[in-house]
Amino acid sequence: MTSADDKDYGLSTLAVRAGHVRTNEQEQSEPIFLSSSFTFDSAAQAAARFSGEETGNIYSRFSNPTVRMFQDRLAAMEGGESCVATASGMSAILATCMSLLRSGDHIVSSSGVFGTTVNLFNKILSRFGLETSFVPLTDYAAWERAIGPRTRMLYLETPSNPLTEVADVARLSELARKHDCLLVVDNCFCTPALQKPLSQGADIIIHSATKYLDGQGRCVGGAVVGDQQRVGEEVQAFLRTAGPTMSAFNAWVFLKGLETLQLRMRAHSDNALALADWLQHQPGVTRVNYPGLASHPQHELATRQQSAYGGIVSFEVDGGREQAWRVIDGVRLISITANLGDLKTTITHPASTTHGRISAQEREDCGVGENLIRLSVGIEDLADLQADLGRALRPA
Ligand SMILES: *Cc1c(COP(=O)(O)O)cnc(C)c1O
Repeated sequence: MTSADDKDYGLSTLAVRAGHVRTNEQEQSEPIFLSSSFTFDSAAQAAARFSGEETGNIYSRFSNPTVRMFQDRLAAMEGGESCVATASGMSAILATCMSLLRSGDHIVSSSGVFGTTVNLFNKILSRFGLETSFVPLTDYAAWERAIGPRTRMLYLETPSNPLTEVADVARLSELARKHDCLLVVDNCFCTPALQKPLSQGADIIIHSATKYLDGQGRCVGGAVVGDQQRVGEEVQAFLRTAGPTMSAFNAWVFLKGLETLQLRMRAHSDNALALADWLQHQPGVTRVNYPGLASHPQHELATRQQSAYGGIVSFEVDGGREQAWRVIDGVRLISITANLGDLKTTITHPASTTHGRISAQEREDCGVGENLIRLSVGIEDLADLQADLGRALRPA
């Protein structure tokens, strides 16, 4: 399948076909090229490859055929010109900032982003002259107020983690346009199966492939998707020099993950919606956050912007940390792990894990209370999940 064909195919077709380049062996499944370097026909060809006169493989920090297949497939699915794979989701964010920003630039980010992203902005990028202001995800006036003359990037996740707030990407893209900023969307929670931010005006998509793109809890990886100039040239140039690239083996695992992405996202969303609805009626549960519920403040926007509501549900219990931990310790089937996006349902206490290393003030700003529990709903039978949580929620 050539990239010229891609525009004519639907997402399910792209997920299993896009990016696949067969070798002379005519393999049906994508091969894993575990080769750190590649050979040349002659010294002259080596020179031409290094100078850029001739395209082709040199070294797997620069390019690798399996990694390229993953990149081309994800680019096609997101509707982007170019995709660059990275060693992790965090290195995708780092590579984006290091290649598209310079010292003195300013970022405006939603306050509810992944805890480690907050630390990257506040504790590392700040030491290199990049300043970040945080605003509530859905307060559009606050976004505009925070934008100054040096602001170059607006950064967000939607839905947010772990509160599942939903931002209007088209509206924020207008704001970005008006102030000559890049709009960067971390599309980890929805994936292209449920939401296509580039088509709503975003410039750059970030992925932690570790989550739903793999979907089976096996590998750590990430990706940046966008236009050829910024991603294909600038982010790629950063990775080639700085080195946080994806391994060929991991790329192959993610390629296989993409093939079932739509089926999995539908199953996650169906289970999560049913479980969120059920949780609303359980004793001791004081609040349930899920964009698919009519009670969710951005339910209508989520319905417009996404094709389903995803697998992440969070809820508050009556009490504080002690009560939340008691519920978590009460599950037997569901895994206690901070990872998400797995076929197996996971449960976590954000305030003491994923959001444990940010300050109490930062946690309060993003609404992560001590009584909040996050579920990443998997594809087990709904009745088994309900029985497990029902038992854990029962008063001691
Ligand atoms: C996990 C996660 C990241 C970081 O990805 P890693 O692959 O763990 O480095 C970034 N953004 C979101 C929304 C995440 O959930």
